Amino acid sequence: MSLVPEGQAAALAALRALAARGDDAPRTLLLAGPDGVGRRDVARWYAALRGCAANLDDPCGRCPACRTLLPDADGVLDAPDYREVGPATTTRDGKPARRPQLRIDQLVPRERSDVDDPLGTWLARPPAFRHRVGTIVRAETLTEEAANAFLTTLEAPPRNATLVLIAPGPDALLPTVASRCAVVRLRPADAPAAVRARLAPHPSLRLGRPAAWRSALADEASTDAKRAAVADLLAALPGDLADAFAAAEALAAAWPTGDDEMPGLLREAWRSAGPAAYANGDAATAALEEAWGAYAHRELALRRWVLALRSSFSRHP
Ligand SMILES: [Zn+2]
Repeated sequence: MSLVPEGQAAALAALRALAARGDDAPRTLLLAGPDGVGRRDVARWYAALRGCAANLDDPCGRCPACRTLLPDADGVLDAPDYREVGPATTTRDGKPARRPQLRIDQLVPRERSDVDDPLGTWLARPPAFRHRVGTIVRAETLTEEAANAFLTTLEAPPRNATLVLIAPGPDALLPTVASRCAVVRLRPADAPAAVRARLAPHPSLRLGRPAAWRSALADEASTDAKRAAVADLLAALPGDLADAFAAAEALAAAWPTGDDEMPGLLREAWRSAGPAAYANGDAATAALEEAWGAYAHRELALRRWVLALRSSFSRHP
């Protein structure tokens, strides 16, 4: 897992130039750009760059500060010097908010609030490593009241700290907020050539959304795994029965409940084996799905399926 966001070379270069100014770097930044292009990843990269012990063009990814900014296996980030806040979906009374809004008590201490450590308080404490970054996502939902309460921090975040606002652009922010930000613009991210070659014309490429193309790549990989499982089953069907059962088990493992891609791939395989095999394969697969749907003994149903398929695929019927 890398800390360097994909396809945002220009924005990273602009932020490197700012970071090179050290203590003179602007402490309130607006990362402006459309949804999905990786603004939070860039904010996290900037936090890593400022905290990294190595002083390279990109955070090294290996020093103790960088390591805190790599999410764990569950995708959870627990970084002492990086924090994100976004619009609350509940009101202070715990009722669902009519529209998500950044609440004052997420930013500054308020009486009768259940927020332990609002962003302003957190940002004012000394960093665990070299620099703290507090990010406000969807800063366009900041109300005038909240912005005023937070104005001291907006105007001059503490030394060794940067406040990062994420929004579509300065126009989306209150003028009092926008005027205090150094703006770094993010464009739709450029996909690497290898990603383009594999996914074009997927819409995530045109929209420049790395998370979307990563998930499209993962879907492709899972389709490849399913195709391989079908091919293995076809190869095993005419041979040793134990091998055919094992191939069917592997195929079932690559077949999530409710997935309709696998039945499609199986039908393709039966079709290529001729009309009789197609009719037989289709009927056997329908019976298998019905048995699974009825919570019949899963493995027994799978074995029946293999035996039914073998009658049309076996070399020695
Ligand atoms: Zn580092």
